Amino acid sequence: MTYDYTIIGGGIVGLSTAWQLQQRYPDKKILLIEKEAGYAQHQTGHNSGVIHAGVYYAPGSLKAQFCKAGVAATIDFCEKHDIDYEQCGKLLVATDEQEYQRMYRQVCEKMAEEFIALGGETALAHQVTGLIESQEEITVFANHHGKDVKFATKFLIACAGLAADRVAKMLTIDIDFQIIPYRGEYYRLPPKHNQIVNHLIYPIPNPDLPFLGVHLTRMIDGSVTVGPNAVQGFKREGYGKYNFSFKDTLDMITFGGFWKASFKHLRAGLSETKNSWYKPGYLKRVQKYCPQLTLADLQPYPAGIRAQAVLANGDLVHDFLFAESPRSLHVCNAPSPAATSAIPIGNYICDKVGEKTGEVS
Ligand SMILES: Cc1cc2nc3c(=O)[nH]c(=O)nc-3n(C[C@H](O)[C@H](O)[C@H](O)COP(=O)(O)OP(=O)(O)OC[C@H]3O[C@@H](n4cnc5c(N)ncnc54)[C@H](O)[C@@H]3O)c2cc1C
Repeated sequence: MTYDYTIIGGGIVGLSTAWQLQQRYPDKKILLIEKEAGYAQHQTGHNSGVIHAGVYYAPGSLKAQFCKAGVAATIDFCEKHDIDYEQCGKLLVATDEQEYQRMYRQVCEKMAEEFIALGGETALAHQVTGLIESQEEITVFANHHGKDVKFATKFLIACAGLAADRVAKMLTIDIDFQIIPYRGEYYRLPPKHNQIVNHLIYPIPNPDLPFLGVHLTRMIDGSVTVGPNAVQGFKREGYGKYNFSFKDTLDMITFGGFWKASFKHLRAGLSETKNSWYKPGYLKRVQKYCPQLTLADLQPYPAGIRAQAVLANGDLVHDFLFAESPRSLHVCNAPSPAATSAIPIGNYICDKVGEKTGEVS
C-alpha cells in the first residue's frame, strides 16, 4: 500500500494537519502514525490548557500570526463540536521591576474523528523507527507491539514534537539544532481556593525566555493550577521528577548548543532548579499574585515537558522552525501556544505541502 501523504505524530499539530489535508484532498490516501495507543499523550496532553490571546509574541513572527488566527479558529471548533471552553480573560501582572514589565485532548479526539470520517486512516501504537527516501517515495519502517511493519508514502509530514530532531535525522536531513527537554512543573490548589482568581494571571514575559513565569490558570472544571516552571529534563518523555534516560541525557550533553544555552541562561536555570526542589521558593513566586497561599496549598499535579529546539550556537528557537527533504516536511519547533494555534498551523503546513508537491487543492 502506498499512501499519498503520511503524517507522523498524533499531537494537536499532526492531527490538525491530517484533518485539513484530507479536507483539501478528499481523494488522496492519507495516514497518520502515532507511537502511543492514544492521541495527545505528550506535549498536547500535558499543557496548561489555555487558549492564548497572543498578547505578547514578537510582532510579525509566525507565532504571533498563528496565535491571533488560532484563538478564533479554536473557539469556533469547540462551539461546532460542543467542547467546553471558558472565556475568563487573562490578567498580565508585573510583579517586579524586571518583569514590569486540558481541554486539548478533547479537541484532538474530535479532529481524529473528523479526519477518519473524511476517509483518513490512523495507525496508533506504531513507532516510526526508520525512513528511507527514494526518488519516487519514502519507505516508513515502524514497530507495532514488537512487530516490524512498513508503509510507503509519496510525501511525509513529521509533527513529532519531542522527537522532531530524531525523525529529521532518520532522513539524514542536515539540521543544526537539537530538541532539549524542559520540564514544566505545576501544582493544583485545593478546592477551597477555586474562587481565588476569576481570570488567568500571567507574568509579563522575559523576551529571552518567554516560557518562564509561573502563572495561575482557572481550569475548565473550576479548579486552579499554578505553574509551570521550566527546569532541565533528563528524559524526553519522562514526566516523573526522577525520570532519567541515559540515551536522552547523553545526546544532550554531547551537543555543544546545550552547554552554550545553559551558560547563557545560567542564572535563570539555577533559580528555576532551586525552586523546583525547594517548595517555599516556588511558593514565594506564587505569593506575588496571591499572598494568602501557603505551602499546604501546593498540591501535586502532573508535569509537562517542552520540546525546545536549541541551535548549535546556544540560541533557543522561539518561533516555528521547519526542515525539509524533497519528499518530506518537518515541524522542528512548535512552541507554546501551538495548541491554540494548531488550526492555522495545520493550514500553513497544507499550503507548504501543496507548494512542494505542486498539488492544487
Ligand atoms: C508545560 C507546557 C505548557 C503549555 N501550555 C500551553 C497552553 O496553555 N496553551 C497553548 O496553546 N500551548 C501550550 N503549550 C504548548 C503546546 O502544548 C505544544 O506546543 C503543542 O502541544 C505541540 O503539539 P505537537 O503536536 O507539535 O507535539 P506533541 O503533542 O508532543 O505531539 C507529538 C507526537 O508525536 C509522536 N511521535 C514522536 N515520535 C514518534 C515516532 N517515532 N513515531 C510515531 N509517533 C511519534 C509523539 O508520541 C506525540 O504524540 C504548552 C506546552 C507545555 C510543555
